[in-house]
Amino acid sequence: MPCSAQAIAATAARPVRVAVLGSTGSIGTSTIDVIESSAGRFEAWLLAAHRSVGTLVEQARRLRPAWVVVVDEAAAASLGPGALPAGTRLASGREALADLVRADDVDRVVSAIVGAAGLDSTWAAIEAGKTVALANKETLVMAGPLVMRRAEETGATILPVDSEHSAIHQALASGRHDEVQRIVLTASGGPFRTRPLDTLGSATPEEALRHPTWSMGPKITIDSATMMNKALELIEARWLFGVPAEKLAVTVHPQSIVHSLVEFVDGSVIAQLSPPDMRLPIQYALTHPRRTAGIARRLDFTRPLTLEFEPPDLDRFPAVRLGHEAAARGGTAGCVLNAANEAAVAGFLAGRLRFTDIADTCARVLDRHSFTAEPTLEQIRGLDAWARQEVATWSS
Ligand code: NAD
Ligand code: MG
Repeated sequence: MPCSAQAIAATAARPVRVAVLGSTGSIGTSTIDVIESSAGRFEAWLLAAHRSVGTLVEQARRLRPAWVVVVDEAAAASLGPGALPAGTRLASGREALADLVRADDVDRVVSAIVGAAGLDSTWAAIEAGKTVALANKETLVMAGPLVMRRAEETGATILPVDSEHSAIHQALASGRHDEVQRIVLTASGGPFRTRPLDTLGSATPEEALRHPTWSMGPKITIDSATMMNKALELIEARWLFGVPAEKLAVTVHPQSIVHSLVEFVDGSVIAQLSPPDMRLPIQYALTHPRRTAGIARRLDFTRPLTLEFEPPDLDRFPAVRLGHEAAARGGTAGCVLNAANEAAVAGFLAGRLRFTDIADTCARVLDRHSFTAEPTLEQIRGLDAWARQEVATWSS
């Protein structure tokens, strides 16, 4: 998009300044890998995380950002004087983070806080017309139409980091929007793709956290085991690419090499392939509309490569059906599904819910909520809190 090209051109003489929101997480640390290997093309201007001050201090000593934000105020207060390098300032709290994200110095924002907690700072970046590399899919799941409309008004650019959406973004360049027949998101199928169905109820957090192909944070790893991650990604794709829900489909692809596919009206299917390594979609979102050499792993065609695809088993993965339904309904459905799932995953990890209760709980909360087709941000925040409370009541 034109504003990305201008942003890159305007900053070509100096490093592109990046705000990394959620720098201590899985996407955050991969982003730092990309920045550190960019030979000065990028620099970290701001690093932010919740409360993992040890990792933040270590990152700050290496990258020497202008700002470190510890969102949890008590954790920020635990940092003694001299913990951060000279020239790096400390701020704390959600509002300070939103203010700093809007600063003129910020060229690109990597939105990689996990869950609904990422909404406020991503919204601040959109309001300020920034170029946002969006890993926090929850922002679009909760408030897709509002976010996309606001981005259009402010000139903000949203570039997907989610590997499926990065693949779709790349494949869509092969045709016009009105020539798209279908968008097919790939899913690995997670650790329980072939586990006997009648044993799923007794799956433990430890088993669900053992993902066969991707190394990710705990919340999204559980979402991959239930395939709720694909449900959230269907909703994310609906708003990000402006396509009706009927044009979205899912295929299970255990090798995680094909990251998604776009079928055009003439029957051509365009896919993006690479090993499962998030550093590539992160780098793509940082360098777009250009490409540069990078550190992500590469495919090796001198070795045999087998790629398999199968339709998702909806009895095993009822979450996928919920994702299709919520994508079709729009309005408050995505926000409620997301909040109920976050609370249910926390309940599962704490031993209060069984694995199969996660999707069941989400379906019940979704059914019971009072649907609104065009919610405000305030209504979305209210329903997010309501859905969490519902899950807490049922699982206590
Ligand atoms: P993670 O759990 O590894 O890291 C989460 C980060 O968010 C940490 O830095 C943490 O400090 C920060 N954080 C948590 N709560 C916060 C709060 N209340 N305020 C401020 N910061 C807070 O998560 P992750 O796997 O890196 O995922 C991050 C986001 O990227 C999620 O939205 C996820 O769906 C998305 N995503 C991740 C991957 C992946 O490979 N890990 C792939 C695609 C999309
Ligand atoms: Mg993904």
